[in-house]
Amino acid sequence: MHEYSIAQHIATILSEVAREHGKPVQAATVTVGPMSMIVPELLHEAWVAVTQGSPLEGSELHIEHVPICARCQDCGHHTESFTPFIKCEACGSLRLKLASGHELQVINADLEDSEAVPDES
Ligand SMILES: [Zn+2]
Repeated sequence: MHEYSIAQHIATILSEVAREHGKPVQAATVTVGPMSMIVPELLHEAWVAVTQGSPLEGSELHIEHVPICARCQDCGHHTESFTPFIKCEACGSLRLKLASGHELQVINADLEDSEAVPDES
């Protein structure tokens, strides 16, 4: 299941963020591009399953959709679309450099403000 491994990937990133800051993650925002083929409902389900019993359990996952962005290497035109495309919309060139849209990125993590919680050591 595609979404399950992605959820595990996000959990790994957020666990590291939480460890780095010494605070639990309450919520996180990820961006998904149209070419990542992610079904948000399935990702939410997978997130609950993957984080169950972990420090990330109960954290919220916000999913933001981002368009595919590509720059034409011939005319420099910037094409942006939520549906996959292979040609520059300005000159029809196929020499596009994909800037985003195929990936999933963790763009934000909300950490709990837990100054009151003493270090367990
Ligand atoms: Zn072009």
